[in-house]
Amino acid sequence: MGMLAQAGAELTPNAEDADVIVVNTCSFIGSAQQESIDTILEMARHKTGGKAKRLVVAGCLVERFHDEIRKNIPEVDAVVGTGELEKILAAAGVAATPRAPSPFNILTSTSNIATSRPEGDHRRGQGRFARDSWDGAVADLPNYLYDDHTPRLLSGPGYSAYIKIAEGCDHPCSFCIIPQLRGQFRSRRFESVIAEAERLAQSGVREITLIGQDTTCYGEDLGLKDGLAVLLEKLAGIEGLQWIRFLYAYPNKITGRLLETIAAHDNICSYIDVPLQHASATVLKRMKRGGGADLFLRSIEKMRRVIPGVTLRTSFIVGFPGETEKEFEELCGFVKEAAFDWMGAFAYSDQEGASAFDHDQKLPVREIESRRKSLMSFQRKISKSKKKSLIGREFDLLLEGTSTESDLLLEGRTAMHAPEIDGKVFVNDYPEGNEPKEGEFYRCRITAAHDYDLVAEIV
Ligand code: SF4
Repeated sequence: MGMLAQAGAELTPNAEDADVIVVNTCSFIGSAQQESIDTILEMARHKTGGKAKRLVVAGCLVERFHDEIRKNIPEVDAVVGTGELEKILAAAGVAATPRAPSPFNILTSTSNIATSRPEGDHRRGQGRFARDSWDGAVADLPNYLYDDHTPRLLSGPGYSAYIKIAEGCDHPCSFCIIPQLRGQFRSRRFESVIAEAERLAQSGVREITLIGQDTTCYGEDLGLKDGLAVLLEKLAGIEGLQWIRFLYAYPNKITGRLLETIAAHDNICSYIDVPLQHASATVLKRMKRGGGADLFLRSIEKMRRVIPGVTLRTSFIVGFPGETEKEFEELCGFVKEAAFDWMGAFAYSDQEGASAFDHDQKLPVREIESRRKSLMSFQRKISKSKKKSLIGREFDLLLEGTSTESDLLLEGRTAMHAPEIDGKVFVNDYPEGNEPKEGEFYRCRITAAHDYDLVAEIV
């Protein structure tokens, strides 16, 4: 979006107003692929019966199904994979204006040369990133990384922004094709991340969320030890940043120094999102992840001890091939004992190219869905009681505007709520004559609790 805007394109979120429509796609599980295809077909109608003259498909679906998209959806004029972002101008038919410096200069600068970790190189040798089983995929693995000079437009509210600090993943998880889609792990330069965060803070951003497929490996390819902790520490010193958090942590990469860094800074949210995927050691072994309930419980105890009041989020995959009743019960028992603040449960999605795809003990879809629902019902009870225990307590709240549920309510988030993922805080009262403003922080008191959402008054 930044490159297009810099080249003079006027952006609109309304497809019916657009001359060029760009669909950015996801491809990591079956439902995401289906949603992407449905959206492309929906947008294609704007070309056949509307104003649009060009339809561009970008993102991970292109990495996976490059040739099929071209062959089967004739309305698509151009495709842009995740490793070839500089092609977006040509794909959209937008010429770089003489006033704007061409992003091509930036993309070939030395600051974008990617590095690698020895684990990644080793797994590459073992074929972890190979796309041989995929017909019609983009031939080359993406190696792209943006930097602080890359033109960027924030698509969210002006007070909150994501910063991608690393791209790709070196882990061998047997259910996951993200490494083949996104490539080998590579970190953005430390100074580049800081420069971007400083600029965002100067422009009014108050909350930043660091993202990457695995943020806890940050800096390993740059020779940094405890890179994420060092980065967070530096970011915490940037004036104006009130909430800093990172998504997602790999379980065995959460170091003591990382926990201490979170605990030591008021503007680093006491919040850790660590997708554990399962709790049964035998399933985790088949998932090629390692760990198990006992180890995870010890690690959770340490997180809670070092960071009092830490908010913990995790997610699990239910119905992995060969998951027995006993292994599923082990997962349920773990969920009850660990008592996460937030939890997501995903049905196993069979992906060609993932090693679990060749497993012969696939579970019926109905059984998987029934296990997913039952796991979520345990968590609902845990969440309800955790949310109830917050009644009467005070927190800082970032006001996000009128509620999407009712015009009579405002809504916002506390540091316990990551943007767009966790529950909401509905605000139904504030001191007379002091109407709260979107993007500002207020002290609030929790007055009621639902299963996942909270109700608060501004004090
Ligand atoms: S760590 Fe996450 S992104 Fe990487 S392979 Fe495992 S599930 Fe996929």
